Amino acid sequence: MKPETPVNLLDLDRSAMQQFFESIGEKPFRAKQVMQWIHQRGITDFDLMTDLSKALRAKLQEKATIKLPEVTIDQLSADGTRKWLLHMDGVENAVECVLIPEDNRMTLCISSQVGCTLNCSFCSTAKQGFNRNLRTAEIIGQLYLAHHALVKDGFENGITNVVMMGMGEPLLNYDAVMSALNIMCDDYAYCLSKRRVTISTAGVVPAIKKLNQSTDVSLAVSLHAANDELREQLVPINKKYPIKQLLDACKDYVKGHNRRRITFEYVMLKGINDSLEHARELVKILKPIPSKLNLIPFNPYPNAIYQCSDRKTIDQFRDYVMKNGIITVTRKTRGEDIDAACGQLVGRVKDRSRRSHKHQISIKNLTGQLNATN
Ligand code: SAH
Repeated sequence: MKPETPVNLLDLDRSAMQQFFESIGEKPFRAKQVMQWIHQRGITDFDLMTDLSKALRAKLQEKATIKLPEVTIDQLSADGTRKWLLHMDGVENAVECVLIPEDNRMTLCISSQVGCTLNCSFCSTAKQGFNRNLRTAEIIGQLYLAHHALVKDGFENGITNVVMMGMGEPLLNYDAVMSALNIMCDDYAYCLSKRRVTISTAGVVPAIKKLNQSTDVSLAVSLHAANDELREQLVPINKKYPIKQLLDACKDYVKGHNRRRITFEYVMLKGINDSLEHARELVKILKPIPSKLNLIPFNPYPNAIYQCSDRKTIDQFRDYVMKNGIITVTRKTRGEDIDAACGQLVGRVKDRSRRSHKHQISIKNLTGQLNATN
């Protein structure tokens, strides 16, 4: 008989972990113990899980495994942003996650897919096509690695916020993202409050509705244009789910819930979506929704067909929208020197020759530098 493949415990949220223990003839409360060992203490060796009996540890050795993504590059930017390149199963499936330290927040930007199917015309991930969805283990593995790297470096709170704004469309990998989310917010794992976890979507309307039924995470929507004609060019999924449908789903998402507002993301593209007329249109459609606007200066990459709007244009756009009652923040571009800026994730993985060696530093050299930036 073929031996069963061991279960990767990183794939399991609490209820799946309880089912696993029951399936091997153990009590479900073992799930809490093992989750604490893995996610809170960063232990992946069953032999070190000292409150489990020897017999149970032996059983786990046989039936389970704890397989993390493999860190191949760990880079630190001059501004404190830190980026990991992770291989999931060999070199073909690589993703990146980025740590953005800010005041007393440690935000981790994580990926949900290898590549993306949505083909937004300004996004570098789109250029590399789509390989596959990440598994829960591969999504939560990004948080595990970053969190425990921080704790090891003396930042005892580790990661405080998660944004699913890396590669991929999280709402097109719904089930794996949901169980990763359960683990992020579990008291026996990372204990993040749902407010501190943000899912960013290009506008997969049915999935926003489904999300609305099942969780309370913060929602960010990549709007980028306030009329259908322009949005179709920038975010092609708009052809399937036009702005009105998207905004109706957003209204429902905030209505009657504890969620304060939706964050709308708007990339600033020179001469494309950045005029005061565009700002007026935007105010008109956002006014009825409790919202916050994030203006993202476009980050160029080789062969990009767009340019970033001028600083003055961005400021005028921001001032106009603010004056009309919508909280607006221009996002700071972080980690440019290590290609960790918004929208640049992994676009260059396939062209690794660009990475300059001076930015590739080993984990053991990071402590001092990270401390120096905080
Ligand atoms: N699929 C999700 C997550 C993607 S990335 C979504 O669309 O929301 C997170 C944000 O970065 C999105 O708002 C995306 O539109 C934006 N982005 C992508 N490429 C960019 C670039 N080159 N410059 C600035 N922002 C970019």
